[in-house]
Amino acid sequence: MASIVVLGAALGGLQTALLLADDGHQVTVLERDPHPPPSDPDVAWARWHRPGIPQLRLTHLPLARWLQLTEAQLPGLVGQMTAAGAVRMNALAPEPGLRDGLLAADARFDTLAARRCLLEYVTTRAAEAGGVRIERGVACRGLRSRPGRSAPHSRAPHVTGVETSTGPRAADLVVDCTGRRSPLPSWLRDIGVPGPVEEAGRRGFTYYCRYFRSADGALPASTFPLIEEHGSLGLLRIPADHGTYSLGLISRSDDHELRRLLRHERAWSAAVRLFPGADAWLEGGSLTEGVRIMAGLTDRKRTLYDAEVPLVTGLVAVGDAWAVTVPSIGRGLAISLQHSLILRDVLRKHGTGDPVGLVAAFGRATREGLEPVYWQSTSYTRHRLAEMDAHAAGHPYRHPDWDRARALTLLAGRDPDALRAERAGAHLLPGAGAEMSAPALVEAVKRTMAEVEQGMPPGPARAEVLDAVSV
Ligand SMILES: Cc1cc2nc3c(=O)[nH]c(=O)nc-3n(C[C@H](O)[C@H](O)[C@H](O)COP(=O)(O)OP(=O)(O)OC[C@H]3O[C@@H](n4cnc5c(N)ncnc54)[C@H](O)[C@@H]3O)c2cc1C
Repeated sequence: MASIVVLGAALGGLQTALLLADDGHQVTVLERDPHPPPSDPDVAWARWHRPGIPQLRLTHLPLARWLQLTEAQLPGLVGQMTAAGAVRMNALAPEPGLRDGLLAADARFDTLAARRCLLEYVTTRAAEAGGVRIERGVACRGLRSRPGRSAPHSRAPHVTGVETSTGPRAADLVVDCTGRRSPLPSWLRDIGVPGPVEEAGRRGFTYYCRYFRSADGALPASTFPLIEEHGSLGLLRIPADHGTYSLGLISRSDDHELRRLLRHERAWSAAVRLFPGADAWLEGGSLTEGVRIMAGLTDRKRTLYDAEVPLVTGLVAVGDAWAVTVPSIGRGLAISLQHSLILRDVLRKHGTGDPVGLVAAFGRATREGLEPVYWQSTSYTRHRLAEMDAHAAGHPYRHPDWDRARALTLLAGRDPDALRAERAGAHLLPGAGAEMSAPALVEAVKRTMAEVEQGMPPGPARAEVLDAVSV
């Protein structure tokens, strides 16, 4: 069994470590931030200093796919999360389109609602109980390497460990789980590797979030959309643990006018009120001082391969360190867990004794299993930004793919089967492709496209939005 160093003790790193420790590997997680998560989610919420996860206190909801995989591959973890206060919820139930109630098979749309610090605490405890050693206050500062030995890839250096703030650490395999801000390109340059091939969206979104707690522990409404997209703005209404929930507005990152306004609580509340039924959601007790803002949220992917040839062996990047997708479609945690499982499976097959085989197989499995999901996200980002641009300019955005997506959303509000197919795709559920391409649905979407083609996206015109929030 191998000695593995995982960098980063947030959910991605912890889940990876747990899976690999379960297989008998000796796993050490190095985490730059010094403090472990407090057990009480309210204390953690108020006091846990965690600069390494800037999104910790912003709206989060894992996809149903994440819950399915967690239950299947990390037995017991979900039970510990619900015991700590996470709430099992069904991604169909809050949707107004479901007329005939939930069917037994709709359990596949279950997901887990909780503040991120609760999920972090429970996963930390589980990792420790599973034999993972977590060292906090230890920052990785670079890679240790030797020239590659195995022909024909002898030019690819082999990573033998890491340099840290407390000295060098040797490892058979280094797993980068340092997230969206992973410094991997500069670490690679320092050992003579030209750096991963990187592609990133030039533009993205900005989140403006606040958390609340309802007085009676119940949500303000029994039916509500988890995400609603107006022309200039989106709104997330996301339940969490212990009667808490979050509201998150989403704008274009380069919408400087809205950014200037929405950082003020009153303007933010005025913008939330523009969404039907959202008023009641502002009545909970506030858990957030001011408005929490995170900008520059776009898609970015790094490939440690030059065509088929690894740039480096002894090192892999997992989860956000490999690819980041825009958060409004909520894929980060599901992708990250799927990626950890890919790593576990290729390690089972190749071990660390075949470093080229290992990283090549990991790269191939990543490309086949996860890249399509990444490209879907980039397509969403491109079209949604274009729609927001068009709306700001006062005309509708037309593109056949986007019209089809909008028609499906419209249909999902009226027809439970369309809703199920749309949600299955959004939650990355197995079989979603077949559901979405069912001939009856394809025909219905085609018919609905005529409605979409004529209209602007819902919600007030941009001038009205600006007027409403200039309070
Ligand atoms: C605003 C926002 C909202 C989101 N909402 C959702 C959602 O609703 N659903 C969803 O599934 N996903 C969501 N995501 C994505 C999700 O947060 C990430 O996919 C997830 O956090 C990935 O976790 P990670 O462990 O890979 O990285 P991170 O959570 O970023 O953690 C990286 C860890 O590495 C540590 N670290 C960094 N540098 C070093 C170093 N040099 N040495 C040692 N340790 C280091 C950090 O301290 C941190 O602990 C959202 C993301 C954002 C930004």
